[in-house]
Amino acid sequence: MTSYLVVGSGLFGSVFAEQMANNGDKVTVLEKRDHIAGNIYTKEVSNIQVHKYGAHIFHTSNKKVWDYINQFADFNRFTNTPMAFSKSELYNLPFNMNTFYTLWGVKDPWKAKEKIAEQSKRYRSREPRNLEEQALSLVGRDIYEILIKEYTEKQWGRPCEKLPAFIIRRLPVRFTFDNNYFDDLYQGIPVGGYTQIIERMLDHPNIEIKLMTDFLANKAEWLSKYEKVIYTGMIDEFYDYCFGELEYRSLAFEHEHFAHSNYQGNAVINYIDKTIPYTRIIEHKHFEFGDQKNTIITKEYPQKWYKGEEPFYPINNEENQHIYHKYEKLSQENSQVLFGGRLGRYRYYDMHQVIDEALNLADKLIVHKVK
Ligand code: FAD
Repeated sequence: MTSYLVVGSGLFGSVFAEQMANNGDKVTVLEKRDHIAGNIYTKEVSNIQVHKYGAHIFHTSNKKVWDYINQFADFNRFTNTPMAFSKSELYNLPFNMNTFYTLWGVKDPWKAKEKIAEQSKRYRSREPRNLEEQALSLVGRDIYEILIKEYTEKQWGRPCEKLPAFIIRRLPVRFTFDNNYFDDLYQGIPVGGYTQIIERMLDHPNIEIKLMTDFLANKAEWLSKYEKVIYTGMIDEFYDYCFGELEYRSLAFEHEHFAHSNYQGNAVINYIDKTIPYTRIIEHKHFEFGDQKNTIITKEYPQKWYKGEEPFYPINNEENQHIYHKYEKLSQENSQVLFGGRLGRYRYYDMHQVIDEALNLADKLIVHKVK
């Protein structure tokens, strides 16, 4: 039996803890917040499951991951069909025939295709040097200027000409009237919210949970007590920023309650214009087809990240990758501590990717022990 310390009760830490506990190992889970579940935390407020850290829609084409997560909750038939509000007009996302009809009045797919080809032609002849050139070469000027530019600049806090092209390697464009945002085989929202999933994963006699406990406050002591540590916090913070600080983008959430039953008629509406400070409004009840008499919305404001605030998105440019690789190399010198999840690996991961990585890590350690 191995003794594991898992730092962070988000999805990565919890999947890993569940797997090892079922393998007969003892696991202690440390969490510095006052609740489990990391950023997928949902809380019932006035009978509505509120996604406290932003909209979380589960989607995957990985059957192993889908079967795994379905052990812990039933998923409803929610399909993400976000809309975008730009310059007094409402558009469907992802870019599809509904969008092109609102934009140009075209209803024939070939006409929409021609329009995009005509607008993007001149940007295709050379390698894009930044995000703006990349977007123009993929979708042309109208879509870029009406639906991408100002939203992206709000989100990242810098002009599109100063953002790297790889942020949008591909932009989904469909020539069908299909508003389903994801191409994945499986999609849905857990009935009753995400927190119960994590509660069920961690509900095991081999797992002990310690909330409001920051590993870094007593790092040496924790390291001396456990054979293996799985760290899902910030890798640069773990190493006391010895190679410099990695950059993140942060978010602020503003929740509002209304006594009436329907605020915007859709779960997610993006706000493109730079004159509106938030990037989207989520209406939580629509994730679960709620029929409550009241409603709750959340506005999402992108923010510059300062040390001590919640780091939501890694800024994956060359400089940060260079710094990250130094930390990664250092981590490979010590087999007691393994890094996982979005902060440990400094990578944007969707939930299904986090689950897959945590399952793979657990498998590797279990097989290694059996050998
Ligand atoms: P986290 O959830 O961040 O968990 C890490 C935990 O570690 C935290 O609870 C933290 O408090 C704790 N911790 C850190 N340092 C310490 C320490 N020193 N001591 C103790 N505890 C510590 N994915 C999708 O698939 N679909 C979506 O629609 C989607 N929407 C998203 C929307 C937003 C706004 C964001 C930010 C992400 C979204 N994601 C979505 C991604 C999803 O949130 C992540 O894939 C997942 O939550 C990552 O899990 P994690 O365990 O790696 O990290």
